[in-house]
Amino acid sequence: MKKITKDEIKRIIALSDAFGPSGMEDEVSALVRKELDGVLALKEDKMRNVRGVLNPECKGPKIMLDAHLDEVGLIVQAVKPNGTMRFLPIGGMAASNLPSSLFDLKAKDGKLVQAAVAAKPPHFMSAAERTGAPAIEEMVLDCGSVSAEETEEYYGLGIGSFGAPAVKGNFDEKKGLFFGKAFDCRIGVAAEIETIKRLKGKKIGAQVQASFAVQEEVGERGVYANYKELQPDLMICFEGCPADDTFQEPYMIQAALYKGPMLRHFDRCMITSPRFQRFALDLAKANKIPVQEAVRSGGGTNAGIVHQEGVPCIVIGVPVRYIHSHHCWCTAHDYEAAVELAVKICESIDEKVLAGF
Ligand SMILES: [Zn+2]
Repeated sequence: MKKITKDEIKRIIALSDAFGPSGMEDEVSALVRKELDGVLALKEDKMRNVRGVLNPECKGPKIMLDAHLDEVGLIVQAVKPNGTMRFLPIGGMAASNLPSSLFDLKAKDGKLVQAAVAAKPPHFMSAAERTGAPAIEEMVLDCGSVSAEETEEYYGLGIGSFGAPAVKGNFDEKKGLFFGKAFDCRIGVAAEIETIKRLKGKKIGAQVQASFAVQEEVGERGVYANYKELQPDLMICFEGCPADDTFQEPYMIQAALYKGPMLRHFDRCMITSPRFQRFALDLAKANKIPVQEAVRSGGGTNAGIVHQEGVPCIVIGVPVRYIHSHHCWCTAHDYEAAVELAVKICESIDEKVLAGF
């Protein structure tokens, strides 16, 4: 497989670092448009969904590549008289992971302010508090303020302020290992960007469409706007999906680091088109691209929405350890295999193949 370039590494870290909880994806959508500037014409709607067509002159089957721009985060619900803030989670975050974690909150002037989910010192804990994790409704964010006025006036924070994990990404060159936040789905966004760049200028029988959708983490709310405008015949959904190699018995591991992207047959929201899935798995095998197969009892993706419109979809998920938490790992190897597989699929789709689905 191809070795990851310096540009790709820089792009992946920048995407991981970008502030973009659901509903506030501006920074991520701007980054995507910058990265694909000159590659294809992209349009951004008022929700910050981004879409475009790489080769509009092609009259073959339309294949939509999709990844979501948003990440899990939080929103401030109220400021307490002592200056701390109550909040609600945006997307699925486990309450037990939150105490002591650091968030960036977007202030009124657009700057980021650090706030920690307050952790009560053990000195003040009751016996019951010592053994159980508090509920999210009992937690507060603390930016160091001592009054509601200070939080609102000095820090520019208050009701409706968005927050995302405060984590800076890095890359271990020797291991080909990325560390950072939000690889769900920024590693998918990076894989889609790279797939589009590699397909640029190639003579292929399919029309390649780009979809970067907002608000996936709160119930796949953004992708439909892209689907409606692009009207694809097929969809490849890129994801950063939960790695299970530190939780499962060996025989149940279906998304390990360094073993290639995960192609899921089944999750909570979709039974993957068995014919499109078979086509992709056969193509991976023929081209010696490592992949992993999965059947998931949970989870859901943007494909869960689009397949209900009669569009065969597959999911290409780059395994990410500890998604929906602050500290995540994924690998250049699995990212590269995801890109190579997506490129091969786009090169291999034509009317005849589509008719066989
Ligand atoms: Zn995701």
